[in-house]
Order: sequence, then structure tokens, then C-alpha cells
Amino acid sequence: MTDHPKRESFTKKELLTQWLVQEGRCYCGCNTKLEPGNYIEEHDPPLRLRGPKQSGKPDYLLYRPCAKTKTNGTEGTTYNSDRNKIARQKHREKPKEKKPSTMKSRGFQGHRNFKGELILKDKAEGREE
Ligand SMILES: [Zn+2]
Repeated sequence: MTDHPKRESFTKKELLTQWLVQEGRCYCGCNTKLEPGNYIEEHDPPLRLRGPKQSGKPDYLLYRPCAKTKTNGTEGTTYNSDRNKIARQKHREKPKEKKPSTMKSRGFQGHRNFKGELILKDKAEGREE
């Protein structure tokens, strides 16, 4: 499993800066006014998809219902939601399954002659009747 950065939060200063950048509105473009308590600090890409050396800091502020949609997709589809991306990432990381061979061949041992006797390979070599 890959390591992911620890989830961090905005400092008060970063939060204020981000708030101003977004003009106090949801980052997704829905224009919902953010008020204390109705938004979350969104990590994008999600921590699960970050490398161990990447920052665990959030990237922007999302109105909670929008964040929920981003994380879980809409009712109709999870396509392009974080959940979907994580699932796809997991799928890619998954090593190709090797089926353990239950029919392990011991290799060529010899053969049977016309009487049904087993002629072992090493004995039979060069001295076949
Ligand atoms: Zn929104």
C-alpha cells in the first residue's frame, strides 16, 4: 500500500486567504455563500491519491453538499467523484492475480511401452527396444 500524507487543515490565515480568493463562495461554481459551519476544507486531489511527500493541506473550501457530491458522486453516477477515482486507482494498483497452479507438472517422467511398463526417461535413453 502506498503512504498518504496526513490530513491537515488550513491555518486561520490560510483559511482567510482561501476564503477571500473564493470571495466567500463555494469553489465548485455553484455560487453558494459559505458561512461558518456549512463548508469543508476540501483536499483535491484527495489524500488517498497523494504521494507520501505531498502536502496534506486542503486546497479550497466547498459548501458541504457540494463536497458530498464531489466525494461520492451524484445519485445517478459516481463517475469522476473521489470515490470513483480512488476505486479506479485501487484497481490499477492491484497486482495482476496469478492463479496458483494446482496442476503442477512434474515434467516428463518417461513413457509406457507396449506392455504397459513404465520406461523412465533416464533409463530409457539410448536403450530403447
Ligand atoms: Zn458548490
